[in-house]
Amino acid sequence: MRPRFLIIGAGFSGSVLANRLVNLLDCRIDMWDERNHAGGNCHTSRDEKTGIMVHTYGPHIFNTDKKEIWDYVNSFGEFRPYVHRVKALSKGKIYPLPVNLFTINQFFGQSFTPAEAKSFLETKADNSITDPQNFEEQALHFIGNELYKAFFYGYTKKQWGCEPTELPASILKRIPVRFNYDDNYHANIYTGIPVDGYSAIMEGMTEHPDITITLNKKFTAQTDVSGYTHIFYTGPLDAYFQFEYGRLGYRTVTFEKHYADGDHQGLSQMNYCDEEVPYTRVAEHKHFTPWEKHDQTIYFKEFSKETGPDDEPYYPKRLDADKSMLQHYRKKAASLSGISFLGRLATYRYMDMHHVIGEAMAFSENFVEAFRAGQAPPVFSNIE
Ligand code: UDP
Repeated sequence: MRPRFLIIGAGFSGSVLANRLVNLLDCRIDMWDERNHAGGNCHTSRDEKTGIMVHTYGPHIFNTDKKEIWDYVNSFGEFRPYVHRVKALSKGKIYPLPVNLFTINQFFGQSFTPAEAKSFLETKADNSITDPQNFEEQALHFIGNELYKAFFYGYTKKQWGCEPTELPASILKRIPVRFNYDDNYHANIYTGIPVDGYSAIMEGMTEHPDITITLNKKFTAQTDVSGYTHIFYTGPLDAYFQFEYGRLGYRTVTFEKHYADGDHQGLSQMNYCDEEVPYTRVAEHKHFTPWEKHDQTIYFKEFSKETGPDDEPYYPKRLDADKSMLQHYRKKAASLSGISFLGRLATYRYMDMHHVIGEAMAFSENFVEAFRAGQAPPVFSNIE
C-alpha cells in the first residue's frame, strides 16, 4: 500500500515537506490548515483596491547564502532582485539601518573614514563586557550606549515587551554593524522578492495530483488520524499538548491599514525607534515590487503585543522560563511515535524563510532515508 502522510500546516515548512516527499516517495499527502488560506505567515495576496501585492503578516524578504535553497525556490516562480534598505526615525531624525558608516557619521555629526569610525566606536563600547550574555550586553559591547539607546532600546522594548537584558544576544546578532556605506539590511549572497508573491511559490510546491490541501480544518491531538502512515506537525508545540505545561511566550503583531495617493514614505520599511511612538515600524508594500507601477499606496503600522489565546503567534520570545518549558514539551514529544515536529512554531525558534526551507529540505531527506530503511523517523527537525 502506498504510504499516506498528513501534514498539519500549509506554510513553508509543510509546503516544502509535501513537495520533497511526493517527489522522493510514491505516496499520497493530505495537508490541513486551520486558516482560510495556505501559506502560513508568508501568505501574500493582492490588495483589492490598489492591486499592490501585500505580505499579509508583515514584510518578508527572501535572502540566503545557499545556492541550493535559492535555486529551489526559484524553480517555483520568478524572483526579481530586491535589496532591503531600511530607514529608522530616532528623536526626529532619519538614519539608515543597519548601523553603518553613514549612520555613525550622521548620528555623531562626523565625517569619519572606516578606520576612524571603528576606533571611535571602540571608545564608546563597554569593554568590561567580554562575553555578552544578553541583547543589551551585546549592544553595549559592540556599539556603545548612545547608538544602543537611539536605535535599539526603545524599539526592542516595544517589539518584545520586556527589558532587552532578558532577551538573548542572538536577536541582535541578526543585524550587522558596518564600517562602510553598505546599507543592505541583509548580508546575503542571494536576495529577492517573488514576482507573483510567496503564496504562488508555495502553490507551485504543492501542485501535484497526490497532494490535497484542506483549509479551515483544525487539528488537535484528539483528531482521528488512524489512516495515516505518519503525521508531520508544523503548528505550535504547546498547542499540540493542550498547553499542559503552560503557554510558550510569543509576541504577536497587529496591523493598522492605511491608504494614500502617491508615495507615503518613499521606501518599504521605516522603523520607529522611540519608545513613545506606539508602533514599531511602517511597511509600504508597493516598494517591495519596484518594477510595478501604482498611483495609490497601501501601508501598515505594526504594533507588537503579547500573544493571547486567540492571537496568531509570531515571534518566539525564548525567555529562560520558556526554554525550560520547551524542554518539557520536547521530552514529551520525543516519546511519541508516528509523528514529527518541524518549523518555526513546532520547534519554537525565531527562523527566517531560508532557515525554514533549508531545514524542511534536509528533514525530508532524513525522513525518507529512515523510512526506506524501516527505521524510526526523526521526531524533531532540529536538535536542541
Ligand atoms: N531592532 C531594533 N531596532 C530596529 C530594528 C531592529 O531594536 O530598528 C531589534 C529588535 O529587537 C528586533 C531585532 O533587532 O526584534 C531583530 O530585527 P529584525 O529587523 O531582524 O526583525 P524582524 O524583521 O524579524 O521583525
